[in-house]
Amino acid sequence: MHRLFVAIRPPERVRDLLVDAMDDSPALRWVPDDNLHLTLRFVGEVERPLADDIAHALQRVRSDPFELRIDGVGRFDQRNGGAVWAGVKPKEPVATLAAKVDRACVAAGIEPERRLFHPHITLARFGRSAKSEVDPFVRRNAALASEQFEVGSFTLFESRLSRHGAHYEVVADFPLG
Ligand code: ATP
Ligand code: MG
Repeated sequence: MHRLFVAIRPPERVRDLLVDAMDDSPALRWVPDDNLHLTLRFVGEVERPLADDIAHALQRVRSDPFELRIDGVGRFDQRNGGAVWAGVKPKEPVATLAAKVDRACVAAGIEPERRLFHPHITLARFGRSAKSEVDPFVRRNAALASEQFEVGSFTLFESRLSRHGAHYEVVADFPLG
């Protein structure tokens, strides 16, 4: 099985800004620079033939390049902990691209995404016991912001999970425009 997701890799200067915001908050397990991304669509575990069909379908996604910027940070909470993320703006062009990517995945044979699209770049994960330690980081970084950056492509990644954390490999890049 192949664990796939479709994402945008931010450019180095934006990743530098994000990495610079990562501090010594003991509660937060930081995402390494190599793994920073904005998920357009999580595919999950699929067999090889379906993975190939998804890659082919993604080739037919058409979108002009567009600009994004980092705007603030926030948190998602789940039962066992959660994640701290950097928000991106504006929502519209990236949401449209995510919808096109979703339609391509559906055309290839997987179920549509039912959840609302919330564009973000995960910065850190935290455990259940650390929930109360996350807000100081979120408050300190409320004004985190980058210059606009161009999104000129999106990428199909394969995620390999291990005890040492996730490792992402590029399956294919898809240029925009
Ligand atoms: P780890 O699971 O070890 O913490 P990870 O979450 O970075 O690492 P994956 O679980 O393979 O690695 O996830 C890859 C990307 O897909 C991440 O952006 C993750 O947030 C997202 N993702 C994972 N599972 C889901 C899901 N069920 N629904 C939506 N997005 C998901
Ligand atoms: Mg995960």
